[in-house]
Amino acid sequence: MDFRDTPEEAAFRAEVREFIEKEAPKPKAGESAADALAANWQRNQEWFKRLGEKGWIAPAWPKEYGGAGMSTIQQFIFNEEMALARAPRPLHMIIGLGMAGPTLIVHGTEDQKKKYLPGMLRGEDIWCQGYSEPGAGSDLASLQTRAVRDGDDYVVNGQKIWTTLAHMAKYMILLARTDPDAPKHRGITYFILDMKSPGVSVRPLYNLGNSHEFNEVFFDNVRIPKENVIGEENRGWYSAVTTLDFERSSIGSAIGMKQHVEDLVEYAKDHQDGPTSTLRTNPMLRYELSDRMIEVEVARMLSYRVASMQNRGLIPNYEASLLKLYSTELNQRIARTGIHILGLYGQLRGDEAPQKGRLLQTFLRSVAYTIEGGTSEIQRNIIAQRGLGLPRD
Ligand SMILES: Cc1cc2nc3c(=O)[nH]c(=O)nc-3n(C[C@H](O)[C@H](O)[C@H](O)COP(=O)(O)OP(=O)(O)OC[C@H]3O[C@@H](n4cnc5c(N)ncnc54)[C@H](O)[C@@H]3O)c2cc1C
Repeated sequence: MDFRDTPEEAAFRAEVREFIEKEAPKPKAGESAADALAANWQRNQEWFKRLGEKGWIAPAWPKEYGGAGMSTIQQFIFNEEMALARAPRPLHMIIGLGMAGPTLIVHGTEDQKKKYLPGMLRGEDIWCQGYSEPGAGSDLASLQTRAVRDGDDYVVNGQKIWTTLAHMAKYMILLARTDPDAPKHRGITYFILDMKSPGVSVRPLYNLGNSHEFNEVFFDNVRIPKENVIGEENRGWYSAVTTLDFERSSIGSAIGMKQHVEDLVEYAKDHQDGPTSTLRTNPMLRYELSDRMIEVEVARMLSYRVASMQNRGLIPNYEASLLKLYSTELNQRIARTGIHILGLYGQLRGDEAPQKGRLLQTFLRSVAYTIEGGTSEIQRNIIAQRGLGLPRD
């Protein structure tokens, strides 16, 4: 693989870099991009607006819908530069921009596109994703939430769970069963639900770190107008799966992990004379940090592999599972190393704790990475069957 940019790619990289340098809000010293996002809402909103003016809030979307129509390699460069500069990304908009928007662009009507896409791009409308249910996660197609046609509406009853941002969202992309007699993948319809509709109730779920990210959502005779069906009735499964790879590069996460390890190394060195770094007292820590540094390079190579396949028009299959599995498990190891640096102080949270307990928070949150977006076991099944050619049972 040739890692060098072509002259066109180098020019594009320079343009992105210059724009970020000039316009992006700078995180304060010691502050991660994620913290900056939370702490400086207004400052970041202005930055997102400027990104939007260039079509870079949704770089993968076609230009006619307000995106930048970037090629795979341009997205790769864009994501790489954003991550290197630690420029904030609009994470609260990710379900709208990364899932609902692309689904509408491919399967939606013109009216739906006109009504919903601009609010996503302006960052005004937060979306949530109503797929998982108490009895349907890895085996999503066994979902049981029912939608029954009644005149010009569908009447929805059932429950979703783990619904990230449902408490803040204006709309939900909702999968519900419209034909219970059809084979399970063929009786599902894809809806847009206005979260203010009568009969929708949202109950918070607190994660291991005591943060409120996701929720349970209940539907009690909720009416959804038929105009809110995306694609065709009973064909929702196919709309739901065809658009998942709109955003094509995960280089940002590999660079983010590398920066995290670099930050840990700096922290361990800076605090080695105090009680909140075990660098002097725990010789194994040196090996741990070295291992993490090697592993982030492996993660970076795996993302290059996936991106270069996409650039050649190939669709990564088990290779994408390999990257997801390796990166999310590595994230957990990095978080664990962070806690090892702090020693017993790693158990503290609150203002008095080292780094205000941020490493503990990261450690607790890292558990979820290997579950959300498909569990590690599911990724291993894919690698075993499609990568290694092992039999299903
Ligand atoms: C932080 C977070 C945010 C989320 N946000 C959303 C959201 O916004 N919207 C949404 O719809 N969902 C969301 N989810 C749900 C997520 O998609 C599911 O948790 C995930 O798909 C797993 O499903 P499950 O929880 O039902 O576990 P299950 O599928 O019940 O799995 C339980 C265990 O069995 C294992 N297992 C299951 N099937 C197999 C198999 N065939 N072979 C081997 N092992 C297997 C799994 O790996 C797991 O260890 C979120 C989850 C998390 C953690």
